[in-house]
Order: sequence, then structure tokens, then C-alpha cells
Amino acid sequence: MSDLRFDPVSGLWTLIAPHRDHRPVELLPVEKVRKRSICPFCGGNESETPTALAVYDSQGVARTDGHSDNTWLSRVVPNKYASFGKLDAGSNGHVSSACDHHGPFLASSLHGPQELVIPTPRHVSSLSELDGHETRTLWHAAQDRINSMRADGLARHAMLFMNCRSQAGASLEHVHVQLMGSPVVTDYLAARVQRNRDSLQRENKTLVEAVLAWELGEDKRIVTQSDNFTVLCPFASRFAYQTWIVPNRRDVSFMQLDARQRDELGLLCRSLTGCLEDHLHNPAYNMLLQIAPFENSADDHWYVEILPRTTRSAGFELGTDVWVNPMPPELAAEQLKVAQQEFTTG
Ligand SMILES: [Zn+2]
Repeated sequence: MSDLRFDPVSGLWTLIAPHRDHRPVELLPVEKVRKRSICPFCGGNESETPTALAVYDSQGVARTDGHSDNTWLSRVVPNKYASFGKLDAGSNGHVSSACDHHGPFLASSLHGPQELVIPTPRHVSSLSELDGHETRTLWHAAQDRINSMRADGLARHAMLFMNCRSQAGASLEHVHVQLMGSPVVTDYLAARVQRNRDSLQRENKTLVEAVLAWELGEDKRIVTQSDNFTVLCPFASRFAYQTWIVPNRRDVSFMQLDARQRDELGLLCRSLTGCLEDHLHNPAYNMLLQIAPFENSADDHWYVEILPRTTRSAGFELGTDVWVNPMPPELAAEQLKVAQQEFTTG
């Protein structure tokens, strides 16, 4: 059983998830653990995962007819080693916000759905190794699953992310994207929603819209642009070579991206991670989809964030929540701009 616990001193939530200890450790620690002989995510090994919640066939079409051969492009399966436990049978699918008091602390055994999107039956480890068909279908599946999570009322916020390589938290090499539905809106998310609201009231721009307009004017940290997206290294980057992929217009909702926009997003993720791998010698990285809690999605200006894990947090970061970044984002953007052009033409 997992417990979500709130510390009133730090104001932070922690997820106590002891059963996560049982998950496979193909990559942790990478130097010492021998690779598993069977990869549960490879085509042909479908029986190694729980029954698929959705399967996208070779044309990228969602199938609900038990399609199980290994010609699929994306498979969505429940996370066997979920951090939150399963939804209580008696909950009727609704998320309650009740917490128990434990002295000055709060704790909740609230649960949200957790799924994995496996974007290819091929054993590859990074978004940079997916082909155009696979990246397109990955984002289609992500859209479908978040929409379904929202419609089912099983979560207040959906966090979609990918951990690539062990230093970024990956436990299996085969590329996979995780989707965690959270039953709580943390202070971190609530504060972001409030800052966004303030920005809208002040200048009728979402926060991300204000950032994008200013960055385009400055033109010092822009890596590349496409019809619908801009790639930039944000002014206050916490990580070296941190990048955002931002929709050019705030009315481009993630839930309603069309096929062409999904293509663009997938190709930008692919080329950006490929550049980072060429330029930084295959760093671990995290990819995050930053969307607002469902109840605040009307004013949302979402973006995708890629965080190379080239530095480690230490005492200062842990004690102050201020991160030390040795790479100015202006220089990072300049280098990535050249790398991106070489990657695209190479
Ligand atoms: Zn595999």
C-alpha cells in the first residue's frame, strides 16, 4: 500500500511506495546489474506485461479487439510497479480529497491510474531512435490516455514523462513513457496555476505566452522554430541544456492536437534528443509534458520540457531548492542551434 504524505514544515508531499522495491533493476545501478534476458516491452514478449489497455496497430489506429501480434506501433499497459496503489474498488472511480491526520502530518492512500506507453516493439532506448510513424503514434496514444483519464474522473492531474537511462531514473532500457494520474494538486502545481492567473489578469497573457513573446524578442535562447512550436532554453534554466518545446499559440490545446501538430511535436522531440545525445555523449534525460491540473486546463499553455541530467543535485540544492546550473542558457541555445541544423541536414 502506498501512502501520500504531506510535511507541514517543508510544505512538500512524499510518496511512500515500498512495493517499488520489487520492480526490475535492469539499469540500476547500470554498471553492476546484468541485463535481463527477456525485455517485457519487446515485440513477441507481450505476455510479460499486464493485458494492454490500448494497442495502436501498424497504421497507428487504436484497436480494441484484443490485437496482440507484434505488428503494433504503440501498446499501453497498466504500470505493474505503480507508485500509487490501485484504485479502491469501493471508490466508484471518484477521487476524494480526504486525508488522515497523523500528528502534524497529513497522509492519504488516495490512488490514481498509472500506465505505460511503449512506443515501439523494437528494443531502442531513446526518443531519438523512434521513426516518424512511432513518434506520431506515441503522442496520439498519450493524448487518448490523458483524455480518458480526465473523462473517467480518476485523477485531478496527469503527469506524462519519460526517464531515459539510469541516471534519469529509468529501470528498463526499452523506451517507454509513463503516465501518472494524481489525486492531489500539489502546492507546486497550485502555485503555478495562481501565477498564471495573475499573469492573465495583469497583461492578458498566460505565463508561458509572456515568456515566449519575450524570448522571441530577445532572440538569445531560441534553438529552432516550426509552424506550431518554438524550442528554447529558458532564461532561468535549472539544468544545463534544459529545453522547452512551446506551442506558438496558447489556443493549441494538447488534448486537441491534430495529426500534423503531433507529427511536428514528435519530430522536434526526436531531433532535440538526438542533438543532445550527439553533443553531450548520450546523457540521461527526462522528458516531461507540463500541463495544468484538469480543473485549470481552460487557461493552460502547456509545453514539453527536456532535462538532460548532466549534473547532480547536492546539499545546496536540497537545502534551498535553488539549483546550480554551470551552463548559461544563452550558450546552450547557441550550441544546440548549430547541432540542430547539423542533425537536420546530416
Ligand atoms: Zn525491448
